[in-house]
Amino acid sequence: MAPSSPINSDSVCLPVSARGYECTVHPRGELRITDLAEVGAVGRTYRPFDHPALYARFAGLGTEPSSLLKFANEFGFLEQGQRRNGIAQHLSEPVDFWIRRISELRAAVEFHKLLQTNQIKKLAEFVKLEAIHPPVPITLDRTFRHSSRPRNKVPLLVILDPFDPQQEVYWMSPSKDDLAAVGSDGILPVRAYLTGMTNRQLRAGVTLYTFWDSTENRFRILQIPTSLLGAMWLQFAQAVAENRRLGTCRWCGNPFEVSRKSSSADRQHCSDKCKSKAYRNRKERAIAMALDKTPEQIAEELGSDPETVKDWIGQGKTQAAISESRGEEK
Ligand SMILES: [Zn+2]
Repeated sequence: MAPSSPINSDSVCLPVSARGYECTVHPRGELRITDLAEVGAVGRTYRPFDHPALYARFAGLGTEPSSLLKFANEFGFLEQGQRRNGIAQHLSEPVDFWIRRISELRAAVEFHKLLQTNQIKKLAEFVKLEAIHPPVPITLDRTFRHSSRPRNKVPLLVILDPFDPQQEVYWMSPSKDDLAAVGSDGILPVRAYLTGMTNRQLRAGVTLYTFWDSTENRFRILQIPTSLLGAMWLQFAQAVAENRRLGTCRWCGNPFEVSRKSSSADRQHCSDKCKSKAYRNRKERAIAMALDKTPEQIAEELGSDPETVKDWIGQGKTQAAISESRGEEK
C-alpha cells in the first residue's frame, strides 16, 4: 500500500504584492526588489504546487532586473521580503540575493540532468581535489557558499558551478571512493553534493508540523514550505526522487516535467493550452504558405504530414469564402 503523501500541496499558499514589485536603489547603491504595496497591505495568494517545474523556471531566469521582476510579479518574494531597519514602509529583497539563489538552483538542476544522462566525464570536470589551508570562512549571507569551509589544512572536494567553473559552489570531505574517482568519475561526489545542498535548502525553507485532521479523524503530518524558495527546493527534491526529466515547451519555452514512467514521454508542450495554440499556429501558417508552396513542402517545413496540411488548406479556403461572402453582404 502506498503511504499517504506527506505533502498537502493544496494547503500551501504564498502571497504576492497587491501593487506589484519594482527595482529600487537603496542607500550605498544596493539594488533591491521592492514591494510597491506598504507593509500589511493584502495582496493575492497562489499555490506554488499548481505550477509544475516552477523550480526549473526560476533556475532558468535571466539575471537582469526585468526577468527577476517578471518572476516576482507572478510569484512574489523568495523569502517573504525583509523589512529593513524595522521602519521601512515597503518590504524588499536584494537583487544579489536573487541572483545567488538562481545560480544555486541552476547548478543543482544541471547536475541532476548530467547525472540522469550518466555523463561521467563531464561531471568529473566540476569536481576538484584541494589540499589547502582555506581562508577564514566568510558568511556572505544565509547560503552556505563560504560558511562551511574548514579552517585546517585538509583535503577537500570542491564542486564547481557548471555554468561558471571559476565559482565554487560546495566543499566537502572526500570519502575513499571519492578520492579514487577524482579526475575520471564525478558521479559520487556530485551525487553527494546534490543531496547535501538540497538538504540544507530544505532545512532552511521547509518545516514539518502535525495537526488533528477532523475530517479524517486522525493526526497528520504536513511538510510546509515557509517560503517560495523552500517550495521550489521541495519541488526539485521530489523531481530528483522521482527521476523526472525536464522538457522545454515548444510553444512558450517554459520548462515542464516528464515522468520516467509516463506514457507521454514524447510530450512537447507544457500544457494543453500551449499545445492547442501551437496547433492553431501551425494550421494558420500552413494556410498562409499554401499561396506559393505544395502541401508536401509545407508538411515538411512544419513537421506535419501532407494529408493533414491538405485538410487545413481546405478548411482555410472554406473559411476565406465565408468571410468574403459576409464582406459582400455589408
Ligand atoms: Zn508552454
